[in-house]
Amino acid sequence: KVRVRFAPSPTGPLHIGGVRTALYNYLFAKKHQGDFILRIEDTDQTRYVEKAEDYIIESLNWCGIPYDEGPAKPGNFGPYKQSERKEIYQKYIQVLLDKGHAYYAFDTPSELHDLRQKAEQKGEKFSYGPTNRNELNNSLHFSENEVKKRIQAQDYVVRFKTPVNKTMNIKDEVRGYIEVQTDNLDDKILFKSDGMPTYHLANIVDDHLMEISHVIRGEEWLPSLPLHVLLYEAFGWEAPSFAHLPLILKPNGKGKLSKRDGDKDGFPVFPLQWKDPKTGSLSSGYREEHYLPETLVNVLAFLGWNPGTEQELFSLKELIQAFDLKKVNKAGAKFDPKKTLWFQQQYLQKAPIEYLLEEFLNELESMDIHPSQAYVEEVIQTVKERAAFASDLWELSSFYFEAPKDFAQKASKKVWKEDTEVVMKKLIEVISEVDDFSEENLKEEVKPWIADSGYGFGKVMQPLRLSLVGDMKGPDVFHILACIGKNEAVKRINFAIK
Ligand code: GLU
Repeated sequence: KVRVRFAPSPTGPLHIGGVRTALYNYLFAKKHQGDFILRIEDTDQTRYVEKAEDYIIESLNWCGIPYDEGPAKPGNFGPYKQSERKEIYQKYIQVLLDKGHAYYAFDTPSELHDLRQKAEQKGEKFSYGPTNRNELNNSLHFSENEVKKRIQAQDYVVRFKTPVNKTMNIKDEVRGYIEVQTDNLDDKILFKSDGMPTYHLANIVDDHLMEISHVIRGEEWLPSLPLHVLLYEAFGWEAPSFAHLPLILKPNGKGKLSKRDGDKDGFPVFPLQWKDPKTGSLSSGYREEHYLPETLVNVLAFLGWNPGTEQELFSLKELIQAFDLKKVNKAGAKFDPKKTLWFQQQYLQKAPIEYLLEEFLNELESMDIHPSQAYVEEVIQTVKERAAFASDLWELSSFYFEAPKDFAQKASKKVWKEDTEVVMKKLIEVISEVDDFSEENLKEEVKPWIADSGYGFGKVMQPLRLSLVGDMKGPDVFHILACIGKNEAVKRINFAIK
């Protein structure tokens, strides 16, 4: 059975790279009728940030990618927070020690510091590993009794005993086979004397116990892959499949998109707004910037994957169907704020009218404008194709609700000629005679008059638009006329004449 997990550390808000990882896990799970698990990796208490866990859960819910098992959704493999699983890791580090795949190391921080400095002076980098561990201060040299005494008396760590001089060939679903020489690895710390495991041990033990079938995670974890595979071997467990997702790059392609990139360039890098509990500083989020969750999901799906067809708009359901790990790219994916806006515009068109209506009615209310709901709906239907956000509607349609206060200078110069006043006065006479002020009927009555008058279409319609709208923008003039009604139309034309 397919079981995948998203395993964030609650060290701060999830940025969109994390959401992408969660999304791919979700899509893969649902495609294969599997389970999507949320596991909170909070073993590093020094980096724990309060509220980060809630933020992660709220983000997944807002995106519409709920987990099947996790905190507050118990399954058969809990608890799903590593801080609540301490005894489990204690048991399994003992297994590795007993099997001789791990050892106690007593090197003090200052000893290690000296070793690093010495190496640096030689232009090398110190690494604690298969080629030098026999010269260092660890249990490989001591009797059982001596080790017992030491672990009572002093701080220690437990390190993995990396196999010596072994060539590994590791398969990654995205990158293919990767060759690694174990002598180039170091003996990573798995456990500390405070009784807490490090990421590596907790991650492998939990993936095994939670029966994870596929590990899908960001490329930054690729360097840990050899160690993880060796840990499975050391325990004698079957390893899951691994897929490392490509980096998400800055819009200019220069480097990894970071948590700091967003706000200064005017696009959020977080799904939800985040207030830093320490500094109080606020980072914007897609939700608060009025993006639809469908937009973010579609955008993130395409950062590192594509269906191999021309189709760009995908509902979550369609993504589940189309998603394929084999189509995930190796190369980093550039984040494109402009394209994101395009997606948002597309999704706004698909959004239920109730959503736009509610948002826009609220905005009108706040400006003390109270048209009928039917009228507002008519306006929304007319202008929404040019909007990306509900908040764009006013800019696109204000003239349906109030007369222009002034006229765009450039447009005035262009369309308001010496004889325009005479033309507009005649037009007022014509429309004053129209009884049925519907769009259809207005066209039927005004257009023949223009044709007969010999003025030409532009000479009438352009100044008319300017009078009604204040600029040369907006939908069909007859539609605007019909909506605002005869009195208001005449008033606006008269105002323009003066
Ligand atoms: N806790 C790790 C993180 O914060 C999990 C990495 C993994 O998926 O193995 O991303």
